[in-house]
Amino acid sequence: MSRSIRRVPLDFDWPQNKVWEGYLTPDKFNEIPCPDCTHGSDHPTGYSAEANAIYKTFYPHQIVHAGAWPGAHEHAQRLAWCDKLGQAEVDMLVEEGRLRTLVRREPTDDNPRNWEWGTAPRTAAEVNAANKPGAGFGGDLDHDSINHMLLARFRCKQLGITLECGSCGGECGTEAYPGQRAEAEAWEATEPPVGDGWQLWETVSEGSPISPVFPAADDLARWMSDPERGTQWVPHATAAKFIADGWAPSAVSSPETGLVSGAEWVGHHSEQ
Ligand SMILES: [Zn+2]
Repeated sequence: MSRSIRRVPLDFDWPQNKVWEGYLTPDKFNEIPCPDCTHGSDHPTGYSAEANAIYKTFYPHQIVHAGAWPGAHEHAQRLAWCDKLGQAEVDMLVEEGRLRTLVRREPTDDNPRNWEWGTAPRTAAEVNAANKPGAGFGGDLDHDSINHMLLARFRCKQLGITLECGSCGGECGTEAYPGQRAEAEAWEATEPPVGDGWQLWETVSEGSPISPVFPAADDLARWMSDPERGTQWVPHATAAKFIADGWAPSAVSSPETGLVSGAEWVGHHSEQ
């Protein structure tokens, strides 16, 4: 958990461990979910029914649950098209910089490597073979969610199928009031107010206070170094150094110290 020191007003009373409201997109920006493109799922997809049929049949598991009935798995594998691409589709992926693999390069004075990541022409047969059931995971030619999306769009384009839902235009929702979308785009997070107090915050989530507000830096250092804090305890000098530096990562590992809290690490380095 990363932590930071903030200067807030002495009477700042936002609850501890609760994300500061200024960091959260207000509920008033929630749009009315489009009812016409859920296509049986819990959320709008933004796709037309025609595009959805292409998108949702790419992988076998999208078609039917493997154990739905005897032979369901094999049935789904026969219909799914993740391993049944045409050459034009593979060419499109290569053009888009997908299916990257190690390709040869001429070594230069500043770079002696004779390989680099790049794209090379591929046959549909080799790409399909790499994506067949049982071909293993993690290879250069495996499809990821980006390939999936590009391929579905490409099929729609080739077939003259409109990609987006006709009701929401692919936005997945409609404005709850005129101008809502523009307002949401213009919205910016607001920082907590600034003042004379000292407070410890965690910044892994959007950001929330995790200590009381203290009138002096040393009061906060004393609180951080109170043995009552158990595993969160740090030596007083370490806490004081952390506060002076203003920021430390949550946990740091180095050969000399092993894994220690970020505040301890800052202290350790200050002794060197
Ligand atoms: Zn829609």
